[in-house]
Amino acid sequence: MTKRCSFCEFQTDDETAFAEHMRTVHKWDQLGSPSGPKAGTPSAVAFVIGAALALALNFVLALFAISGRPGLVIIVVAWLVTIGGFALLYRLHHWAAFGALGLYAALFFLLLIGGGATGPYTCFSAYGYPSPR
Ligand SMILES: [Zn+2]
Repeated sequence: MTKRCSFCEFQTDDETAFAEHMRTVHKWDQLGSPSGPKAGTPSAVAFVIGAALALALNFVLALFAISGRPGLVIIVVAWLVTIGGFALLYRLHHWAAFGALGLYAALFFLLLIGGGATGPYTCFSAYGYPSPR
């Protein structure tokens, strides 16, 4: 069966030749293919890195706020650092920002389910989440 390239006029009966054409001419690197130029970080890796960075950031912010009810300055700084961090991740790799956002959402809802309305306070007190006391 003849395969036809959707990007140009190239067509061939040979599966291997077609794959080679897509890879070399259009830089269409197949998933899991060890050869060929790496066009940036894979989305899945960026997603995990973004999530890990968000977890680290959240941990640091929680440490800052652990001593007691965080003041307005800490809350404002926490929001600015987080939004800035997400924007930076988004510029580096879209999926890194999605990973960070996903982790924050997952963390929030896990704490909400696990600890009730005051659950998220553990990790989100630096953002001004209301104290249970
Ligand atoms: Zn082509």
